[in-house]
Amino acid sequence: MKSYKANGLVLKSVKLGEADKIVTLLTTEGRVSAVAKGIRRTGSKFGGRLEPGNDLALVLAKGRNLDTVTQVHIERVRPGLRTDLAKVKAVFAILELADKLAMEKDQDFRLLGLVSATLDQLEDNEGWALLLLAYDLKAVAISGFLPNFSECVLCGSRDGLIQLGIKEGGLVCRTCYSGQNAIKTNKAVLELIDRLLKLKMVDVALMSADSESVSLAGKMIWTHIRYHIHASFKTRVNGGLVE
Ligand SMILES: [Zn+2]
Repeated sequence: MKSYKANGLVLKSVKLGEADKIVTLLTTEGRVSAVAKGIRRTGSKFGGRLEPGNDLALVLAKGRNLDTVTQVHIERVRPGLRTDLAKVKAVFAILELADKLAMEKDQDFRLLGLVSATLDQLEDNEGWALLLLAYDLKAVAISGFLPNFSECVLCGSRDGLIQLGIKEGGLVCRTCYSGQNAIKTNKAVLELIDRLLKLKMVDVALMSADSESVSLAGKMIWTHIRYHIHASFKTRVNGGLVE
């Protein structure tokens, strides 16, 4: 079987048969599903290395349907992500969104870089709400379907942008607003979104924002995500984390 090397991280895994797992990976070769044979046996050569949250260097063997993980080396381990339940939940939320957005054979490394940078900041910092919001916005932007936040999607006006039109995929001005399927927004929230999109994750970690704006921005982006990505999310409610 032909082998190849890839760097990446585990997005999710499901049990397979008696002792195996299928792991879904976000890698430098795109989104890959691969079998980790014998991983559930005691003394497996993989140990805990394929747990979510680690940056990995992998060797995989090409298969007809699924590839097989043959070697795993940990490049970076993040034990600080397991210190409290909220962080663990945030990690799964980050990985779940990446799983829905990532594409096979996609060699655009930006999403992988973003996930990795977000996990770094989550490990090193107390709060997660702003990091998660910035991550959601940036991940959606990388994937090419960020709502149009700069002008009215119906008439191009830059004034009176009071609503996010969900079906329209962007802001709608006072004149065009029809009152249907839209979320009321305000200048403070739009400025927050703009800042989060421009800053690096390391700088987002140093920022603060009022919780009302964070929550409204989360609601806006998540209503947009749920409308435009046809997938079910187990980790999120309105941009926040499932309790
Ligand atoms: Zn308009």
